[in-house]
Amino acid sequence: MKFVIIYTLIMKKKIIFFLLIYYLFFPGLAYSKDINPTIQPEPSSEKEKLNKYKFGKFKNFVIVTANDYATRVGYQIIKKGGTAADAAVAIQMMLGLVEPQSSGLGGGTFITYYDQKTKRKHSFEGREKAPQKLKNDIFLNDDGRPKKFFDAVIGGSSVGVPGTLDALYKVHQKFGKLSWKEVIEPVIRFSEEGFIPSNRLINALKKEKYLFEIYPESNFKKIVEEPKKKFFNREYTSTLKKLSENYKSFYNTKIAEDIVKITNQSNSPGVLNLNDMKNYKSIHEKALCHKLTNNYEVCGPNLPSSGTICVVQSLILFEQIFAEQIKSNSSFSPDLNKVLEILDFVYFLRDRYLGDPNYVYINKQRLFDKDFLFKNFKSFKKDSKVSSIQNIDEILNSTSHFSIVDKSQNVLSATSSIESSFGSRLLTNGFFLNNQLTDFSFKIRDDEGNLIKNRPAAGKRPLSSMSPLIIFDENENFLMTLGSPGGKAIISYVFKSLISILYSNSNIKEAIEDPNYIKIRGKIYIEDEKLNNKLAIKGVKRNLTSGLGIIFKEKERYLAGADSRRDGTVRGN
Ligand code: GLU
Repeated sequence: MKFVIIYTLIMKKKIIFFLLIYYLFFPGLAYSKDINPTIQPEPSSEKEKLNKYKFGKFKNFVIVTANDYATRVGYQIIKKGGTAADAAVAIQMMLGLVEPQSSGLGGGTFITYYDQKTKRKHSFEGREKAPQKLKNDIFLNDDGRPKKFFDAVIGGSSVGVPGTLDALYKVHQKFGKLSWKEVIEPVIRFSEEGFIPSNRLINALKKEKYLFEIYPESNFKKIVEEPKKKFFNREYTSTLKKLSENYKSFYNTKIAEDIVKITNQSNSPGVLNLNDMKNYKSIHEKALCHKLTNNYEVCGPNLPSSGTICVVQSLILFEQIFAEQIKSNSSFSPDLNKVLEILDFVYFLRDRYLGDPNYVYINKQRLFDKDFLFKNFKSFKKDSKVSSIQNIDEILNSTSHFSIVDKSQNVLSATSSIESSFGSRLLTNGFFLNNQLTDFSFKIRDDEGNLIKNRPAAGKRPLSSMSPLIIFDENENFLMTLGSPGGKAIISYVFKSLISILYSNSNIKEAIEDPNYIKIRGKIYIEDEKLNNKLAIKGVKRNLTSGLGIIFKEKERYLAGADSRRDGTVRGN
């Protein structure tokens, strides 16, 4: 008997010891077990509480989004047996409720999808389209000079036909397992119960200059007045109910009529009509993929997003310029001066050569041509002039990125946006309408008199920088997925994280949290003054609020991280 007791005690200790070691090495697995997957009752989204969900390690599935309510609804859907496509629908619907300033039904999206079974890489593009009656001088004043940025943003003239819902529906049709209704259902229930707004939403509303001028009585005022109270967006709930029955009702019934009416009747009226709404079609095509010299493959959206193209061009130049260090096979920290020159050049190419390929000629052969890129990079350096950035508002704080790996190892990476914070500020049926048309160049011709490729035109899609990327290793296995909001700075944020993981052997936390930088039109911006110690030409310090989300596959587990600069979280199992 004595022996049995002693034996049991020893075994117990062993188990405790084993558990200690297990949780020490797999903290993600430890906390993922305690997660209450239900979304209510609601904790606040204060930073400290969310901090423990910023990074984690998981075995079976993982979700990273910009808001914990959205992360949790994604978790719930996957737990229930849903795929990445099912979770994406619920996540996006939830983001439209809890982070309405950034993305939603009134906006557009780029989704990259890796189907593990067929090993195919897909792209779903739901970019907003300009109305058929749009005139190309829409953003010029009577004197022919470009409008001030926010004069163009506010009101109906900046609203493109929203594409997010159509793209989501296509992803779900192709790769969803649960029914359309079933995936929207938990968001409907959640919205009926109301939610405590995040500090980020409260602050965005407190800072907001235009919204309450247009809607002095808006329901959103309650968030500013009583930020600690539950917020109900009942119009959004009823929109979700309608869409869960029939998604098409967004494009061809009263919701469409309301969108048209509100854009046409605003102070700065647009020319959107019902046919624009009815005829909208998102695009499902092969993702744009490019193999690097180490045979890693980068995949993401095609034009009209410049994201994949610009990041790949930066990587091609990087590999050329740092070839010696890369060959030596050890990790290295690249000279930041050179990294910034690469970015400056790639932004220059973007301005000059990219636009909607349905409207302007794009020399596809040259996009990833090493010789063309390197030759022009060298001559660009010689005569690159410092000109100040046209519009500081180009680096904005809205938009949302999320990534999912499901139990069958399908990967979905999505960046979604209504452009500016609260978009055009026009609000209907519980969601904000985008101002994505201000992603067109305001001018039609450049200073030399050449037509600008990204000039506005009827039916055209404005150039984007969204970069929901998926990267594969030399054996064509999934290696990582990443993306960020940040307007044109997305390209710099994603490039920074990629080179630090691929070439400097950084972990994902460093890759996300290391200070951001960007060089655009000859001007350097840095997030941390310390970076200036590395720079020959000093940068200007400013907020560079990325919202990076990364999932990295390491052996049999996923390491995931959400940017501490925003509210994002990581959950999984
Ligand atoms: N409208 C931007 C784009 O499509 C995204 C805005 C943002 O990330 O803040 O590139």
